[in-house]
Amino acid sequence: MSAKPFSIAIDGPAGAGKSTMAKALAKQLDAMYLDTGAMYRAFGLHMLRRDAVNNPAAVAKCVEDVDIAVRFIDGAQHLFLGDEDVTRAIREPEVSMAASTVSAVPEVRERMVALQRKIAEGQNVVMDGRDIGTKVLPNATLKIYLTASAEERARRRCNELAEKGMPEPYEQVLQDMIRRDYQDTHRAASPLQPAEDSVHVDSSHLTIDETVALMKELALKAISSAADR
Ligand code: C5P
Repeated sequence: MSAKPFSIAIDGPAGAGKSTMAKALAKQLDAMYLDTGAMYRAFGLHMLRRDAVNNPAAVAKCVEDVDIAVRFIDGAQHLFLGDEDVTRAIREPEVSMAASTVSAVPEVRERMVALQRKIAEGQNVVMDGRDIGTKVLPNATLKIYLTASAEERARRRCNELAEKGMPEPYEQVLQDMIRRDYQDTHRAASPLQPAEDSVHVDSSHLTIDETVALMKELALKAISSAADR
């Protein structure tokens, strides 16, 4: 009998290191990694181009037939709008806020959640986002709520943007992050909040390797106790 696939849900605020840790964890566990934020970003970019991010009726209408796809190329996740690979474009800072705004529209969440469940179906998966443990994978084998102080998160995001050749001033990044956290935690539809059965990991004072090691230990324990049930 083949083992039941496992799923690891990683949620938390912007810049907590979710994608870095989730990607590394997935590699170590030989599981698929799905960055769900990238999907909201791609749709945010689509609406930015239509100059309609702040028009919820237009957002709800457009999400019905937007041609959005996740493809894995050489093991890396790429986002497509039609034939256009928007993987890099969605990392622009203005897309972060647009993604947060469009993601508050219930119709957007409905379509993205359905897509996410379909992509992950039947696979060992590590998924990160804001509502993975509470909504997308309520029966996940392990749910982690990953946090770090706002200042530490802004510092990391600054470094990440600089490495990608898109530097932004620290104060600007911190303010944007605080604004986005507020919007993500105060929306009516699936607000960012820890799942009741999640394990909290604060990475403020941990290195990437230490955080991944801790998460791996939690994951292996959860996977083995799920197998015993
Ligand atoms: O994770 P990332 O910062 O790329 O996400 C961009 C935005 O997409 C978030 O600020 C949040 O508003 C939204 N999002 C969401 N649910 C998810 C993942 C991201 O609402 N599962």
